[in-house]
Amino acid sequence: MTIPNLSSFGFDEDHQAVFDLAYRYAQDNLYSLCEKMDNEEWFPDKEFRSMADAGLLGVTVPTEFGGGGLDVLYQCFVCEALAYWNHTLAASVLASDNLCVDNLVRNGSGMQKEQYFPKFCDGSYIGALGMTEPGAGSDALGSMSTTANRVGDEYILNGRKLFITNGPVADVLLVYAKTDREKNKHGISAFIVEKGFEGFSVAQKLDKMGWRGSPTGELVFDDCRVPVGNLVGEENRGNIIMMSGLDVERVIGAFYALGITQRALDLSLDYARDRKQFGVSIGNFQMVQALLADMYTDLETMRALTYQLGREIQNISRGEGGRGVVHKRSAAAVLHAGRASMRVLDSAVQIHGGMGFMRESEVNRLYRSGKVLEIGAGTNQVRQLIVANELLRESI
Ligand SMILES: Cc1cc2nc3c(=O)[nH]c(=O)nc-3n(C[C@H](O)[C@H](O)[C@H](O)COP(=O)(O)OP(=O)(O)OC[C@H]3O[C@@H](n4cnc5c(N)ncnc54)[C@H](O)[C@@H]3O)c2cc1C
Repeated sequence: MTIPNLSSFGFDEDHQAVFDLAYRYAQDNLYSLCEKMDNEEWFPDKEFRSMADAGLLGVTVPTEFGGGGLDVLYQCFVCEALAYWNHTLAASVLASDNLCVDNLVRNGSGMQKEQYFPKFCDGSYIGALGMTEPGAGSDALGSMSTTANRVGDEYILNGRKLFITNGPVADVLLVYAKTDREKNKHGISAFIVEKGFEGFSVAQKLDKMGWRGSPTGELVFDDCRVPVGNLVGEENRGNIIMMSGLDVERVIGAFYALGITQRALDLSLDYARDRKQFGVSIGNFQMVQALLADMYTDLETMRALTYQLGREIQNISRGEGGRGVVHKRSAAAVLHAGRASMRVLDSAVQIHGGMGFMRESEVNRLYRSGKVLEIGAGTNQVRQLIVANELLRESI
């Protein structure tokens, strides 16, 4: 069990206090849920909403709406701490509190904040973000086919969204759709959709290899009627909201990866001390020690870059991101974090031997979930494209 000393990375005691609060809360209340979530694909709805009582929902929402009033760096630390003890629930928290709510903190109107934030902060609402579609994954903007046509005081949405975290349980969703198909990626807008809106439905909950207690779904918009007041930002400016949101998501995703990776190292150290073969603990064998040393080195290089990016996106302003230095560096941080994390998870299973291959072992759960760190919020290849494109642009 390892709690990072944040002061040694230049963070202050408030950051440590928030990390510690989330860490203790997750240890006491969320860790015990992991097994059932994985075995039964169970989403602990009540336990999710109860996190509001500990101040762990609406972290970046201004205090006037019932939120924590903190910047996104604090949310990153909350995410890391939650991921250590229950990475699956942490994924759902991230999708709601960052992908949906924090995006509205930066882009929502005063009316939207008043209407939705208090209920996100008290746990009445769970959020989700709907960007990906069956035909639009890596090319989320260009290939998007969900449309929104304005008719009087409403937008009528038609299309499907796929792989949406919290989709089956969300009360409120931030959804992207094309308002002007001719303008392609410059004709996208963002909308707040409530699950009770006419024409919205969940087509299916998807069966996954990891993150099994965090429900992922396919959503259908069939003449879904959305009031014009639920347009987020300006019409046809959704690409900016989406791209700057993705930069933040990538950094917070790297913090999330830290939580999982630290847990895998700690479990492996315990196992290396406890498990005996040839009459001694396997931690005595230098080949096992080499694995542990490499795991630690991967973890700490992830941590250094991730914490640095946490600083850099701390006060990212509205519309910033999606291009330039922060775009390049957030993609590089999550590219490294995803790969390093998968190396550590692989070694963790190796150290656990046959037990690591058993679905019931904690390390196996981490390993199965870890792969998504190289896919979600842009795959490794998309991250590489971003980094290379920005580097080449800079050097002109
Ligand atoms: C568990 C889970 C949860 C998710 N949650 C959400 C969510 O909450 N909201 C949401 O909107 N989305 C979500 N996603 C979707 C996720 O963002 C996409 O899966 C991801 O962007 C990749 O898209 P795709 O799956 O369609 O893969 P594809 O785009 O079809 O890619 C397939 C392969 O082709 C490669 N490839 C594609 N284009 C290029 C290129 N130009 N150059 C080189 N290689 C390329 C990719 O790297 C990948 O290896 C989630 C996904 C998963 C698995």
